[in-house]
Amino acid sequence: MQGHGTLILCDACGRAVPDQSSKEVLYQVNKVRYRLELCPTCLDAEMKRHDGHRGIPGFRKRAAIVVKIASSDDLPRTVTPG
Ligand SMILES: [Zn+2]
Repeated sequence: MQGHGTLILCDACGRAVPDQSSKEVLYQVNKVRYRLELCPTCLDAEMKRHDGHRGIPGFRKRAAIVVKIASSDDLPRTVTPG
């Protein structure tokens, strides 16, 4: 079985979830995109927090979600990039 036993660490809360349960989410800030992988709990919270999102082919997953945010401060993580 391909990828058996692989766990993904959620980029928002750090929880380990099975690869097939994680979701690729791209946060678009102007022309820059931040790629995160979220656990189902964080994905659900993010979908409620942001109104608009659209689906695109993923980099690692078959499908990913793009969410537009005003700045990198809106990324769902405690450590800001840069
Ligand atoms: Zn999470």
